[in-house]
Amino acid sequence: MILRDKIISQAQDEGRSYLMEHECKEILERQGLPTTGASAAQSREEAVELSSRIGYPVVLKVLSPEVVHKSDAGGVKLNLKNAAEVERAFAEIEIAFAGTKLAGVAVQKMASPGLEAIIGVSRDPTFGPVIMFGLGGVFVEVLQDVSFRILPVTEKDIEAMLEEIRGYTLLQGYRGTAVDLAALKELLLKVSELVLCHPEIKELDLNPVFLYEDGYTIVDARIFLDEPLSPEAVSSPKKEDSGLRDLFYPESLAVIGASDTPGKLGWNVFDNLLRHGFAGKLYPVNIKAKVVQGVPAVASVHDIEGPVDVAIILVPAAHTVKAFQECCEKGIKYIIIESAGFAETGAAGEDIERELQELAETYNCRFVGPNCSGMINTQHRMVQSIGTVGELRRGNIGLIAQAGVYAAGMLWGMRQIMDFAIVATIGNKADLNETDILEYLGKDDLVEVICMYLEDVKTGRRFIDVAGQVAAKKPVIILKTGRTEAGKKAVSSHTASLAGNDLIYDAAFRQAGVIRARDNEHMFGLVRAFSKQPLPRGDGAMVISYTGSLGVATADALSLGGMKPAELDGPTHRRLKEILPPFVGPQNPVDCTFDLHGKQLREIIEAGLQSDKISSFIAILQAEILETYLDDLKKIDFGGKPLLICVPCKEFTMSEVIAIEQAGFPVYATPEKAVAALSAMYRYASDNLEQ
Ligand code: ADP
Ligand code: MG
Repeated sequence: MILRDKIISQAQDEGRSYLMEHECKEILERQGLPTTGASAAQSREEAVELSSRIGYPVVLKVLSPEVVHKSDAGGVKLNLKNAAEVERAFAEIEIAFAGTKLAGVAVQKMASPGLEAIIGVSRDPTFGPVIMFGLGGVFVEVLQDVSFRILPVTEKDIEAMLEEIRGYTLLQGYRGTAVDLAALKELLLKVSELVLCHPEIKELDLNPVFLYEDGYTIVDARIFLDEPLSPEAVSSPKKEDSGLRDLFYPESLAVIGASDTPGKLGWNVFDNLLRHGFAGKLYPVNIKAKVVQGVPAVASVHDIEGPVDVAIILVPAAHTVKAFQECCEKGIKYIIIESAGFAETGAAGEDIERELQELAETYNCRFVGPNCSGMINTQHRMVQSIGTVGELRRGNIGLIAQAGVYAAGMLWGMRQIMDFAIVATIGNKADLNETDILEYLGKDDLVEVICMYLEDVKTGRRFIDVAGQVAAKKPVIILKTGRTEAGKKAVSSHTASLAGNDLIYDAAFRQAGVIRARDNEHMFGLVRAFSKQPLPRGDGAMVISYTGSLGVATADALSLGGMKPAELDGPTHRRLKEILPPFVGPQNPVDCTFDLHGKQLREIIEAGLQSDKISSFIAILQAEILETYLDDLKKIDFGGKPLLICVPCKEFTMSEVIAIEQAGFPVYATPEKAVAALSAMYRYASDNLEQ
């Protein structure tokens, strides 16, 4: 609900974008939020009169549309205990701010000390209004210990944002610092509501709020106004499409610019489609060639008899509009523009993109790109990549990549140890964007794990909603680059200055339940585990190692990841004693020394599988004899419990690693990396599966 507020309207009428403390506090009080108040006094007498009504001690503060940071300039006088002190303070403020336009001097109650907090709202260009919470003083100033959520928020979001700050222990109570968490949560929810109801609020700072064992009081407040954000800025409504299935499973595909000359992109794309055995009709379109790679070609899509589901455009940017228009006239619903030379190169390219958007609008079709590398759907034997792609195994991974060459480059090696269902490159996202594709992959049952490489997100709020829905069904792992704070703008409020772009992305991903990867290796490490192994259903892991020290490192990493080496119950203990050599005590991590061989590994895992306390396994195997384990591993019936493998120096025994990966066990170079993947799976299972 959008409300008109008379204080806000009045400020806007006066051409002000900054609301003074007494104005803000009136708005807050009307929402039922307790503040120290702020009545404006115009004279010493009035200040004294107000003070005696409020009750000493009181605080005096300068009120001016020109003063944002009151105490910096000597505009805050604390702990005034009698009329004489009030008179003196009033005079001092008058002198300090002579020449400044004054709206009066605020008289307010001196609040008893509490735990200082800061609460703020600012606008993010991608996600719209975001709320921030932090503890005051050094926590915010020095440690930048703050957390964010994107509005609107749920109670769960608020709880998570409180728990996220490093100073959370102080909120819970440390040497008498306990605070009223219920009241604090309500305050955060009410502030969110306030901002959503008044979209003119651009920034809001409650700094400080004093938190008490019982309730809180807002000590200072400021608000900055601006034009309301248009809803489209952060959440363009979803355009009509038929669910995108035909984009990924076309029965017929026209390739405009398919070439008969090896080395050209038009050659690569058509060659990929032919070689992978595209499961539908293929139509090469080429103005000159009569035959392309042995397939009869036509000069225009108009010459194709029968319907075409998807067209790929590979002609130079300058010719795309004509080709696009012909596709539209032909009634093609999905068009993929792989050519480059558009918005990424400057204004002329942007103009072409706009023309394409208008055509798509007119003809009610959707398009991918430009500047992308098409789609891959292994199930449909469809490879549209601009680079030559070798054989792909059918798998359950969905990859969405903003950059086309990125996907192609990764695929060259990754296809050995990762099995993709769909790879979608989205390029400049002039029409279909990451959220549209993510929404489709959420619905495609062959895709069980989704990973995304993103440089930015187009419409933040819709992204969070869609990602949240998809992530509840299948894990979504995102690598978002550009983590620096280069995007920070000049802003006036404290909140906005702390709202570095990357912190907001972090908050958005957490809010949506998305797993954020630190880098490429981390992302693919997570994806391999999620795509190959079942989720662990408990926090206890059995660690089997050929070296004690890496066993200990694994145990440490497990604790840091919210898991633990499982306790060995009686039967497991007895069984291990039988299996292990006499010089090894049955404990977890199981340290088998250099003795660890395939049969022993199998017997230990099988013993562990009997125990309810053990929900997952990490095996640290020797690179030198890696080929000796696989037969035994394949014989084990894991009964839904995951095994992740760590092989130190794995990069020097690649063919064995590939064999183990292809058998379905992800292999990591260090215990920490293996545990990072396992604990991410455990967290995902705890958050999303019924226990
Ligand atoms: P500024 O515009 O400089 O942020 P504030 O109103 O926040 O001014 O005042 C500065 C500091 O003075 C606050 O951080 C708080 O510690 C203290 N203070 C201000 N008002 C009160 C009050 N009513 N009761 C107790 N302390 C106050
Ligand atoms: Mg302040």
